[in-house]
Amino acid sequence: MTDQTPVPAASTLETLDLGYAPAPEATDHVRIRDHYGLLIGGKWVDPASGKGFKTVNPATEVVLAEVAEAGEEDVDLAVKAARAAYDKLWSKTSGTQRAKYLFRVARVLQERAREFAVLETIDGGKPIKESRDVDLPLAAAHFFYYAGWADKLDYAFPGRSPRPLGVAAQVIPWNFPLLMAAWKLAPALAAGNTVVLKPAETTPLTALLLGQVLEQAELPPGVVNILTGAGATGAALVAHPDVDKVAFTGSTEVGKAIQRTLAGSGTRLTLELGGKAANIVFDDAPIDQAIEGIVNGIYFNQGHVCCAGSRLLVQESIAEPLIAKLKRRMATLRVGDPLDKNTDVGAINSRQQLERIEELVASGEAEGAELYQSPCDLPARGFWFRPTVFTGVAQSHRIAQEEIFGPVLSVLTFRTPAEAVEKANNTPYGLSAGVWTDKGSRILDLASRLRAGVVWANTFNRFDPTSPFGGYKESGFGREGGLHGLAPYLDLS
Ligand code: NAD
Repeated sequence: MTDQTPVPAASTLETLDLGYAPAPEATDHVRIRDHYGLLIGGKWVDPASGKGFKTVNPATEVVLAEVAEAGEEDVDLAVKAARAAYDKLWSKTSGTQRAKYLFRVARVLQERAREFAVLETIDGGKPIKESRDVDLPLAAAHFFYYAGWADKLDYAFPGRSPRPLGVAAQVIPWNFPLLMAAWKLAPALAAGNTVVLKPAETTPLTALLLGQVLEQAELPPGVVNILTGAGATGAALVAHPDVDKVAFTGSTEVGKAIQRTLAGSGTRLTLELGGKAANIVFDDAPIDQAIEGIVNGIYFNQGHVCCAGSRLLVQESIAEPLIAKLKRRMATLRVGDPLDKNTDVGAINSRQQLERIEELVASGEAEGAELYQSPCDLPARGFWFRPTVFTGVAQSHRIAQEEIFGPVLSVLTFRTPAEAVEKANNTPYGLSAGVWTDKGSRILDLASRLRAGVVWANTFNRFDPTSPFGGYKESGFGREGGLHGLAPYLDLS
C-alpha cells in the first residue's frame, strides 16, 4: 500500500520546528519539609549539636531543605537503638515476619514511586526518566527479591545454619541514593540484622522519605536508623565499637581509609568502590546497537556511575566510522532540566563534582588528547557538563587512568583480542566491562580473561536484584545482589 500522507513542500520543512516541546513532570505531589531530623529508635530527633546543613537542587542551585548533621553522640545513640532492637526484637523475629515487612516496603515504594522519582531528581539532578524507569523499579525489586529469601535462609545456605551478624553500619554515595539504600537495607534486614544507614550529604532526601515509608510499613522502632551528615558522620559510624558489619559504597580513597580503621577489629567489611570500565567494540559488532550501548554506558546518569563504560576500546579497523557515528548520536542528546521527561542528560550532582570533572577534562586537553563536546545549550543556573568524548587518548593519560565520574568518554584503539584484554585490564580498578561482538566464543573467552566483577555482552549497565555485582582490585570486595549479596550479612561458620 502506498503512503497517502501529503509530503510538506521543501519550504514548509525548512520552517518546521522539529525540536521537542517541554514535557515537565508535575511536582505538586512532593512535599519537601524545611527541616529534617535524624531517625533514631523510631523517633525523628534533632542532633545533639543542633547543627544542620543544606541540600540544594543541582539543576537550579535552590536550597531544598535543612538537614540534621549527626555527630558522635548521635551515632552512639543510633547504634545503641539498633543494638536494642536487635537483641530484644529483630533477632527473635521469624523470617516469615521479616519478609512481611520487606514486602510491605516494596509495595509502598511501588505505590509512591512517582513521589520518590521526582524527589530523587530534584535532590540529585538525574533525569526523571531514569529515576522513574530505573532507580525506582530496581529499588522496589530489591526489596521484593530479598523479602523472598528472608524465610528461606536455611535453603539458601544448606548445612551452614545461617545466623545474622547484629548491627550493620551502611554508608552510601549520591549517584543512586535510593537504589543504594535498597541494595544495602534489603539483604541486611532479610538476614535478620538491624541497621544504621548514612546517606550521602548531597542527596539525603529520598533516604529520609524511605524512613517515613519504613514507619508506614510499621517496621519496629530501631530496626533501621538513619543518620544524615557528611564524611565525619560516616567515619564516626564505621568506627563505632559496637558495629558488627560495615558496608560501604563510595570512593576508593574513603574505602581504603575505612579498611585501615577496621583492621584488626574483627568487624566484617564489604566495599563497593570506584571503576574505570572498558567497553570493548570489535569490528564484527552490530554498530548501531554498540553506539547505543556506548552512549548508555557513559552518559547514563551524567556518567555518575561506578561501573560506567568510561574507556571505549574500539578495534582500529572501525574506529573512524564508529567515532563519526558516535559524535552524530551525541549531538542528539538532550541536556537540561532533569524534570523534563525528554531529558537524556541532567545536572551534575554538585559544584564539587563539576569542578573535579572540569579539572580532569583540562588535564586531558593538556596531555594532548582531542576533545569533542556535543553542541548543546546549557541552562544559565545549576551545574552542567556537556557530553564529552576524547580521541587520541594514550594509556598513560589521566583521563584513561582516573575515574572522572562524569559524562566524559576516553577512546583508545586495539588491533587484536589479546591487546584489547591487556588494555582493558591495565587499570587499578576491576568493577565492570562490556564486550560487543557477533561471536559467542569471543564473548566467553574475553569474559574469562577480563579482571572485572561484571562483564556485559552486547549490552551495558544492566541490573537485576538476582545478579551479583562487585569488584576486583581497587574496586573493592564483597558482592551485592543475589545470594552473594546475602552472605556478607550472615554468619555461615
Ligand atoms: P565518597 O567516598 O566521598 O562518599 C561516599 C559516602 O561516604 C558518603 O556518604 C560520604 O559522606 C561518606 N564518607 C566520606 N568520607 C568518609 C569517611 N572518612 N568515613 C566514612 N564515610 C565517609 O564518594 P562519593 O563521592 O559520594 O561517591 C562517588 C564514588 O563512589 C565514586 O568513586 C564511585 O565509583 C563510587 N561508587 C561505587 C559504587 C559501587 O557499587 N562500586 C556505586 C556507587 C558509587
